[in-house]
Amino acid sequence: MLKVTVFNEYKHEREYENIAKVYPKGIHGCIAEFLQEEFEVRTATFDMPEHGLTKEVLQDTDVLIIWTHALQEEFSEEVAKRVQKHVLSGMGLIALHSAHYSKIMRLLMGTSMTLKWRHGDSEKLWCTSPTHPIAAGIPGMIELPKEEMYGEFFDIPKPDDVVFTGWFSGGEVFRSGCTFLRGYGKIFYFQPGHEEYPIYYNPHIQQIIKNAVRFCAPVVTERKCPENVQAVEK
Ligand code: ZN
Repeated sequence: MLKVTVFNEYKHEREYENIAKVYPKGIHGCIAEFLQEEFEVRTATFDMPEHGLTKEVLQDTDVLIIWTHALQEEFSEEVAKRVQKHVLSGMGLIALHSAHYSKIMRLLMGTSMTLKWRHGDSEKLWCTSPTHPIAAGIPGMIELPKEEMYGEFFDIPKPDDVVFTGWFSGGEVFRSGCTFLRGYGKIFYFQPGHEEYPIYYNPHIQQIIKNAVRFCAPVVTERKCPENVQAVEK
């Protein structure tokens, strides 16, 4: 069974009543709950020692899912570099919503990762690569009646695939579901999931994340260790 670690800052849900109502167990708790049906899942949060992403945990993780927002700059450099190294050697990574700007993603992508944003919009999430494994069983368009607008230009390197493209009621479009390959590691960035709205309860969104776990899982049974990656560790 694939091993998944779900990391969430777990800050907004403890600070704001309206967000706690949407995610009483935290965003990580909600995601872990629907993934548990098919995967072996553990969770990690910002306040845990080493953010819960110790060498042992990462070594025992096939796919890491991250949700970050308010504590991007406070996130440990050392842990971010550790995660980067594990991705380069084969661990899958799924970065959700505002985790586009996580230290982990900035390290792996090498661009500014900036975008346009606005609160209180609605989104139509269009599937722009219907034969991609992450789109399996997903309709051509998903309506998200409430979602934060993320708009172009999104400063990312050219993705391998743009599986989903978001259209917002303000007229903006966004590359909402992008895949990247870094070293031996597969990465999926997925835009939906603003903390104020029940996005991660949407069955289609859940299916996309499950598909992404399978897609990003390491292909090799024993993770490859490229020379340069090993050198960083020593
Ligand atoms: Zn947001």
